Amino acid sequence: MEPTFSPALHKQRHQFVIDFVKRNKPQKVVDLGCSECSLLKQLKFHCEMELLVGVDINGAKVKKKMRGLAPMSTDYLQPRNDQLLVEMYQGSVTQRDSRLRGFDLATSIELIEHLTLANVEHFSEVVFGYMTPAAVIISTPNSEFNPLFPRLAGFRHSDHKFEWTRAEFKSWALKVCVDHGYEVEFTGVGRPPPGQQERFGFCSQIGVFHRLGGREVCNVFCDDALSYTLLYSKNYPSLHDNNILRRVLVTEVLYWAEQLRRKWVEEETGQRDDGDTPGPAEGGGEECHRASEQHLEMEEKQTAAACGAAMKNLVEHQDVEDGELFWTDGQQESGRLSRCVSVPLSVLWSRCPKVGALSGSLGNLRRLLMDHPDVKLSQDGSAVLLNYQEQEEDRDDLEDSGFAEARRCSHSVEPEEDWDADHAALLSGDK
Ligand code: SAM
Repeated sequence: MEPTFSPALHKQRHQFVIDFVKRNKPQKVVDLGCSECSLLKQLKFHCEMELLVGVDINGAKVKKKMRGLAPMSTDYLQPRNDQLLVEMYQGSVTQRDSRLRGFDLATSIELIEHLTLANVEHFSEVVFGYMTPAAVIISTPNSEFNPLFPRLAGFRHSDHKFEWTRAEFKSWALKVCVDHGYEVEFTGVGRPPPGQQERFGFCSQIGVFHRLGGREVCNVFCDDALSYTLLYSKNYPSLHDNNILRRVLVTEVLYWAEQLRRKWVEEETGQRDDGDTPGPAEGGGEECHRASEQHLEMEEKQTAAACGAAMKNLVEHQDVEDGELFWTDGQQESGRLSRCVSVPLSVLWSRCPKVGALSGSLGNLRRLLMDHPDVKLSQDGSAVLLNYQEQEEDRDDLEDSGFAEARRCSHSVEPEEDWDADHAALLSGDK
C-alpha cells in the first residue's frame, strides 16, 4: 500500500519553512522556484518580515497567482509597525542578480531536481557563492523512498532530471559547504511506515545550511548584475508612512476622546449618554479578514479594558484634576456658539496605551494632530475639543466616513499571523 501523508507532503514542506521562520525570524527571505507563490503567501503574515521575494523561471506561473500577495483590507485597517516589500521576479537561479544578495534566508523547495546536473553547479555558485544568504533550506526528493510507491516507474515527475539518494544529496551539500563556507544539517518531511525510517528515510529530504559566522561574505562580486525581470512589487501599508500613522492615530484619539467625554458628561450631568459610538465590543465588519476577527475582538476588549480602567481611575479617583476635562466655548459654527468638552492631549497620551505608543511623545502627538481636518484642537494645541451639542451629527458623520469600520479593526498593531497551510493555494500534486 502506498504511503499517504497527513498533512499533504507539500504542506509539510512549507510548514517546515514556516517553523524555521518562526524560530529564526529572518527579515529578508527569497523563495527560489516559487511557482505559484503559495509559500510566500504564508510567509507574508510573519510580522518581522521586511522583504519577501519570489523568483521563478516560469513568469506565467508567477503572474497567475502573484496578485494574491497584495495587501488585504485588514492590512490597510491595521497597518504593520514595520515596512514589508513584496517583489516577484522572473529569472533563472543559475544566473546572478545583485538584488538577491544579502538575504537572511533563501528557500529552494523541490527545485534543484528540475535542473540539469551542470545547472546544479551553477545554482551552487549563484546561491552559496554569490547571493550568500545567512541560511538556505533546500528540499529535494529522496530516491530511496521511491520503492514505497509501487506504481511509480522512473522519477516522481516527468520534468525531474535526477532524484538523489541520501548519500548523493549529502555529498553535494558537503561540497557546497566546503566551497562556500557553510555548515549543513540533514532532515526531511514525509515519514515512511513505522520502523522503516532508517531504511527509506524521509520522502522529501531537506538540507538546512547556515553560513559560517567567522567567514567573510565573499565581496569579490562588485558587479551590478540585473538579469531578472521584475514582475510585481508592492509595499505594504505601515506606520512608517506618515499619512498612515496620522490616520490610525486620529482614529484612536477620536475614539478615546469620545469615550472620556461621554464618561465625564455622565458624571457632570448625572445622565447616561447612550449614544452608539462604535464600541470595542462590537464585532469586526464583514470586510475584515475572518481569521483576524477573534484576535481583534480580544485585543479590543483588552484595550477597552485598559482604557476603561483608566477612565474609571480618572473619574472615581479624581486622577483628572478638576477642570482637566471641562466645558468650554467652542468655535462659532453656523452662527451659534457651540459648547465643547476639552480633552487634554496629556490625558489621552498617558492613559490610552495605543495613543502613547503610536505618537511616542506628547509633542509628537500634538504635531501629528495639528491641522488634521478631523480633529479640533484648542487654541494652544493642548487639548482635543469635542462638540457636545452636535454629538449626534458628529456620530453620524463618523459612521458615514467609515470611522466605525476602521475603529473596529484598528486595535491590533500586529497583523494577524496566519500560519494555517489551508490558506496556501494547492499545488498541482504531491511528489
Ligand atoms: N517551490 C514550489 C513550492 O514548494 O510550492 C514548487 C516548486 S515546482 C516543483 C519547481 C519550480 O521551479 C517550477 O515552478 C519551475 O518553473 C521552477 N524552476 C525550474 N527551473 C528553474 C530555474 N532555473 N530557475 C528558477 N526556477 C526554476
